[in-house]
Amino acid sequence: MLKNEDKKMEEIISFCKEKGFVYRSSEIYDGISGCYDYGPNGVELLKNIKDFWWRENVYKKNNFYGIDSAIFKNPKVWEASGHTEGFSDPMAECKNCNTRIRVDKELEKIGEEADEKMPESEINSLFEKNKEKIKCPKCGEKNFSKAKAFNLLVKSNLGDFTEKSSSPVYLPGEASQGIYLNYKNIVQSFSPKIPFGISQIGKAFRNEISPRNFLFRTREFEQADTQFFIAPNENVENFKKTKEERFSWYKKLGLSEKNLKFKDHQNLVFYAAEATDIEYNFPDFGFEEIEGIHDRTDYDLSVHQKNSGKDLNYNNDGEKFLPWIIETSMGLGRVFLAVICEFYREEILEDGEKRRVLSLPVFLAPTKIAVLPLMKKDGLKEEAFKIFQKLSENFVCSFDETGSIGKRYRRADEVGTPYCLTYDYDSKENQDVTVRDRDSMKQERIKISELENYLTEKLK
Ligand code: ATP
Repeated sequence: MLKNEDKKMEEIISFCKEKGFVYRSSEIYDGISGCYDYGPNGVELLKNIKDFWWRENVYKKNNFYGIDSAIFKNPKVWEASGHTEGFSDPMAECKNCNTRIRVDKELEKIGEEADEKMPESEINSLFEKNKEKIKCPKCGEKNFSKAKAFNLLVKSNLGDFTEKSSSPVYLPGEASQGIYLNYKNIVQSFSPKIPFGISQIGKAFRNEISPRNFLFRTREFEQADTQFFIAPNENVENFKKTKEERFSWYKKLGLSEKNLKFKDHQNLVFYAAEATDIEYNFPDFGFEEIEGIHDRTDYDLSVHQKNSGKDLNYNNDGEKFLPWIIETSMGLGRVFLAVICEFYREEILEDGEKRRVLSLPVFLAPTKIAVLPLMKKDGLKEEAFKIFQKLSENFVCSFDETGSIGKRYRRADEVGTPYCLTYDYDSKENQDVTVRDRDSMKQERIKISELENYLTEKLK
């Protein structure tokens, strides 16, 4: 099996485009930086990842509640949360060619402990100390301006925005604010016993200085977030448990343990008790964050209580307090990319032919079954199509009638389809089809009347 270190991101990007997983947004107009579209195979894979996350973070926990909050929120929300003031990355500009760099990321690359939450003076002294080691990625010069905070919030307008007095609305810089805002609603509607969780999958927008590394750093992306509301001071044990749970979710998703690790934060924001990232070992750029796990104490609810003037206390059998929060925030684009990187491989077969395979676990495969008539003629196509229609009631299937059967098998392998059914001349005679397994490439004959049960068992 090919290791991630031996895979090339460039190959994966062109594979994603060729096979209808991911396209550049507005490509015919030369695209727009940091924005991507999911194609027919991509949207299915993304949906399967989301469904698996939702099952484990909502359905399988009896005290977890799912929501879907509006993109637009009262602008006061982003003031209260600190985003209008402090949601920024430290940016510096090359004095020679004006290219902008993210100073914390450049410092990290050369082994310094830096992150975007460091005070400006601190990051600048570290930047100054290392100025000989950091080159402009475009022109190679080592002559930068000082690092300045660059706000990432994306602004928009609603209503009569031609009025001078109208204030902007903001696109969410993170999806999780919608959860804090609905905490009181959930408590009122469902009276959950503490501890309880609220989960959401939502879009986030960030005006990233330099979007790069394909789906890894984009300006529009989706996050899958859970806020776990706990009693005060019960954070240490719950943080530890949450870390373990989230790590094992990635293993169940199919990512191998050797490609996953934790990175605990050294520089914590003032309210955070603990924070860690789960990182994945991407080809070319190595271990990078796919999820953040934060022990946020009662910070979020206390700022919203103060700014909204509403009582957000939880009443625990007469004892009132603001719940503390353990937050998990996963980037779906990054996890999607990790999944493709993990399962993409090229093989040389016994006959010397090369095949590309996406060896996805069946629950993630965009299409579960490809139905293939051996020939278009002699009624084979029509009979095969009937099977396709019947199976499509329960499974996501494709119907492929063009090219040699070998080529069609390869096409199915490339997009990760676990089973191919071929309807041939013997099928007419014996009322059976050939079922071919993607990974072993073994074939067996199965009666058409037994297909449904057979596949249900295989695709469990
Ligand atoms: P980074 O340090 O890489 O900028 P972050 O620490 O700002 O990330 P968080 O604010 O903790 O990220 O967001 C939670 C998750 O959202 C991240 O773990 C990541 O998976 C995802 N995410 C954040 N920014 C982006 C982005 N620009 N593009 C794609 N996914 C992102």
